Parts: sequence; C-alpha cells; structure tokens
Amino acid sequence: MKKALVCGAGGFIGGHLVRKLKAEGFWVRGVDIKQHEFAPSAADEFLQLDLREENNCKTALTPKEGRFDEVYQLAADMGGMGFIHSAECEIMHNSALINIHMTHNASAMGVPRYFFSSSVCVYRDMKPGEPEMTEAEAIPARPDNEYGWEKLYAERMAMAYSRNRGMKVRIARFQNCYGPQGTWRGGREKAPAAICRKIAEVKDGGAIEVWGDGSAIRSYTFVDDMVEGIYLLMHSDLEGAVNIGCPQYVSVDELAVTAAEVAGKKIEIRHIKGPVGVQSRNFSNERIYSLGWKAKFFLKEGIAKTYPWIEAQVKAAGK
Ligand code: NAD
Repeated sequence: MKKALVCGAGGFIGGHLVRKLKAEGFWVRGVDIKQHEFAPSAADEFLQLDLREENNCKTALTPKEGRFDEVYQLAADMGGMGFIHSAECEIMHNSALINIHMTHNASAMGVPRYFFSSSVCVYRDMKPGEPEMTEAEAIPARPDNEYGWEKLYAERMAMAYSRNRGMKVRIARFQNCYGPQGTWRGGREKAPAAICRKIAEVKDGGAIEVWGDGSAIRSYTFVDDMVEGIYLLMHSDLEGAVNIGCPQYVSVDELAVTAAEVAGKKIEIRHIKGPVGVQSRNFSNERIYSLGWKAKFFLKEGIAKTYPWIEAQVKAAGK
C-alpha cells in the first residue's frame, strides 16, 4: 500500500485531499498544528505538530516503516484578504519556515514525489479583459501581497531541490477555492464563505456588506475539482508551476447575487471600505487541461453545495 503524508490535513483543502487519497487506496498520515475544526480526519493517522519546527518536520516525514511515497505540502498560515493584509509578518515568517524545513527534509529523507500548494497570488494585478496569463508570466514578479511573495520563494526552493537533489516536485497555483468544511468565520474566511455566511445571517430582503465596490474579478474553484486537479498533477510528468482554476470569471457582486439566489433570498449589497486585493485575474489553464482536467462545478453548482453547509453552521452557532 502506498503511503502519503498530507501537511495541513487539519485545514480545508488538506481535509478533502486526505479523503481523496483514502479513496484512491493510500495509507495516509495527516499532520497539522490543529485538529480539523469541522470533521474528524479521514487519515489513518493524524499527528498534531507545529511544522515551523524542523524536528517536527522530520517526525512528520518518518513513517513507522520505510518512507513516504508522496508528500503533499498544504500547511500555511493563511486566510482571506483581511488576513493577508493584516498578518504580513506571520505569513512571511511562519509559512516560509514550514516550507524551508519541509522541502529540505523531504528531499534529505528520499521522498520521491513532493507536491507544493502555491497560489495565483504570485501574479501581478491585471485589468479586466487582459489576455490570459501563463504560468511563465509570473516572472518578472510583482505580486500585490506578501503571501504571493512567500509562495514564489517556496516554489523556487522546491524547484531548486528538484533540479539539484532529484526529488520530483509538482506545484499547483490554486485559484480561490471554496466548498463545505472551509473556514467560514473568525477573520480567515475567504470571500465565498464570508458572503454565504452574511446571506445566511440576514433576513430575506435584508442587506449585506461587501468590501470594495464589488467589481473585482475572480474565478472560484470548487474544492472537489481542486482535489481532482491536485491528484492528477501529482501523478503526471508536468514540471514547473501549473494553474488550477475554474474558467468562469465573476465579480464579487455576481458572487453575492449567486449565493443569494441559491439561498432563495432577495438581498441588498452595501459596499464598504475593506481590503480587496487585485482588480482582476485571468489565467491560462492550458497546462492542467493538457492532463484532461476540467472544472466540473461552475459557481452556481458549487455554491449550491456550499451554502447549505454554511447555513447549517450559522444555525448551529445560534445566529
Ligand atoms: P487552511 O488554512 O484551511 O489550511 C492550512 C492548514 O495549515 C491549516 O489547517 C493550519 O492549521 C495549517 N498550519 C498553519 N500553520 C501550521 C504549522 N505551523 N504547522 C502545521 N500546520 C500548520 O487553508 P486551505 O484553504 O486549505 O489552503 C491549503 C493550501 O492551499 C495553503 O497552502 C494555501 O496557501 C493554498 N491556497 C489556498 C487557496 C484557497 O482559496 N483556499 C488558494 C490558493 C492557495
């Protein structure tokens, strides 16, 4: 039985990835600084470890017998735009330490395949309607936040270990990912979860607040699609960074309208000042398409699976 290690297994995408790897027949160890908030881990073994500490990375990477066949590195100090703009030092310090120690020790311990979860935050700001950007066009680099710079550094570190130490490295640049069992409150939630929560909390006919003027363009990828993409990429020969994202681009206001439709509520959108990030994003998905991947969930279908889960959390929390 093949053995996989998932770092960040107590988080949103990592939790879903563990279930995918179990379904594919792997023995899975999950590692995270915390337990999963919303569901018991599906991993065969779960270790609660702070991966900023090098010795903890070594412990995580040491199975009871043999070595891990595959390591998926998704652990990061991260959140939505509010967090990214207010926790620059934590992101630069904590996520960099995790990646430095995990990449180095995975290679030193002979891990054959290593996956790193990067982000489309490595790209510069774009104007609506600009031609699609390919992965190579992230350089010369001009990310608009420190989260993107840290991801670029970690990508380059992983690639250096791939070139010089023989570890096969696969790197995905995720578009915004959403779905059930993701952070939905507390300051680290991303736009789809925050908007679903606000709509679940408001009465039919009420108003919700949206940061910025609502015109920022994004693509949102449902978590089941993301996990399929990760698995396909990890088992492919594609080297270098690979964008994974849904080709449907929508404004933040359109996201809110879609979530309100799914909720069956009429809502008013009030735009308030807040961190928005870049104005637009438009990326090529040709590399991941070359593996036969395509997003199965467009926004409405994905929100139809996400909103009821967030609504249930809101109700359970007594709102
Ligand atoms: P998440 O916050 O739910 O998961 C990250 C996990 O890392 C958390 O469970 C957290 O506890 C863990 N972690 C943080 N510090 C740690 C430490 N010191 N030691 C051990 N574990 C630690 O986020 P997610 O949405 O599941 O994202 C997973 C990965 O994908 C991250 O690397 C993130 O940067 C990347 N990504 C996510 C998105 C998205 O839209 N969700 C987009 C682009 C990239």
